[in-house]
Amino acid sequence: MVTETISTMEKTEVPHVLFFPFPAQGHIKPFLSLAELLSHAGFQATFINTEHNHHRLLHNNDIHNRFPKFQFKSIPDGLPPDHPRSGPLYIRDLFRSSRVSFRPALRELLTSLKEEKGPCQLPKCIIADGIMSFSIDVAEEFEIPTIFFRTYSAHCLWIYFHFSQLIEEGEVPFQDENLDQPISCIPGLENVLRRRDLPRIRRFENADDPMLQFFIRETSVLTRATGLILNTVNEIEGPMITRLGSFFKKVYAIGPLHALKSRINENSSSSSTSSDGILWKEDKKCLKWLDSKPSRSVLYVSFGSLINLSGEQILELLHGLANSEKSFLWVIRPDLIVGDATIGDILKEQETGRMERGLIVSWAPQEEVLSHPAIGGFLTHSGWNSTLESIVAGVPMICWPQISDQQVNSRCVSDIWKVGFDMKDTCDRSIVEKLVRELMDNNREEMMESANKLAMLARDSIKEDGSSCINLEKLIQDIKSMSS
Ligand code: UDP
Repeated sequence: MVTETISTMEKTEVPHVLFFPFPAQGHIKPFLSLAELLSHAGFQATFINTEHNHHRLLHNNDIHNRFPKFQFKSIPDGLPPDHPRSGPLYIRDLFRSSRVSFRPALRELLTSLKEEKGPCQLPKCIIADGIMSFSIDVAEEFEIPTIFFRTYSAHCLWIYFHFSQLIEEGEVPFQDENLDQPISCIPGLENVLRRRDLPRIRRFENADDPMLQFFIRETSVLTRATGLILNTVNEIEGPMITRLGSFFKKVYAIGPLHALKSRINENSSSSSTSSDGILWKEDKKCLKWLDSKPSRSVLYVSFGSLINLSGEQILELLHGLANSEKSFLWVIRPDLIVGDATIGDILKEQETGRMERGLIVSWAPQEEVLSHPAIGGFLTHSGWNSTLESIVAGVPMICWPQISDQQVNSRCVSDIWKVGFDMKDTCDRSIVEKLVRELMDNNREEMMESANKLAMLARDSIKEDGSSCINLEKLIQDIKSMSS
């Protein structure tokens, strides 16, 4: 087990919290924001990463400057040393190995902390990822309270709580191929969801599917926790948060965490006001390129940190974007494309001129990009962090979801909040072109009006008297009272 102590606090009587995210960018990033906020409130933060991710974090960020008071600990990811740790099977393999190897690693870590002197002894509370429910078993062995942090939207978690009911009511497995069939048995979402909007774990072909059964069990374990943290906003997901409240002793809606963290860091003139790339190195040159573009003229295109696309999908997107005649900034991670072809190979095969309005980067400073005045829209995979970041920036979206919660988020964006279009289950250059034109030209005013309203709700929630700020304070006080 590798251990790196960035620095330790001198005081001995500080509440010590252990943060344990699932080892993926979309989980680590909001966990780091939360840990920063609690560290700012005087807590000692111990943060667990896999060894692989810890090295990436060290390599791509100035973590000594950004997290001066954190203690980072790392554990093996349980994968063989020659595993590529990228590509389409990485998350599936990581998911499987985490269920086997993380439980003993957490136990070993807590045992070693028990021996420590000073503020980094056993934590008073573990904030664990809501998809690693085994954490609560280990925490209970050490008599430490657990708060789960589920990094998805409240809408999505509410649906997870109804997987058993979907089976009981005969909605799952689907009886036919009609993916537009409404789903009517989830309270509060009767007129919103279709089959195609359910979180895509599998296509729900079999009620005994091990992944479906795994999530049913995993979700029910969450309710054993002392509380549930959600990276969301009462004024945006209120009805779902209230409903979730019936399952939990406490629900803390404290999002958007990236914005709350930035606001509090700015107020305290901390060195860390913007985000770093976390697991990737940000290419900041694109900000200069954006500076040269007219207001609201550029479409930002990014599909997050995990999903993979085929060469054919890339080509459809590329032609759709080029045919829309809009400028675009497109993040193509080195591992985005499945197979051996690179984006360079794909572009070489195209007629010249296809990319003349576009810029490709391998990883962007996304929060800064979205808040740049040149950005007029976001073609996104609808990961929850990206969705929140776009909401805060007031940027309307074209959603192209691929897996898990993305299917739900995209439906909320298009049908509940009405700040974008949902392009799920299609991949066609003419649809891409049409939706880009709709977003950036034809429906522009209407979209911008709803996006601005939603942005105001998100931004108000992180003000000192805003709901998320108040909920964060409650969380802080509740953890402090555990300490005493
Ligand atoms: N991100 C980034 N630069 C990029 C692409 C993504 O900083 O070029 C960040 C983005 O700001 C977000 C996270 O990576 O916070 C992706 O999380 P999300 O939940 O949107 O999707 P996931 O990667 O989990 O699919």
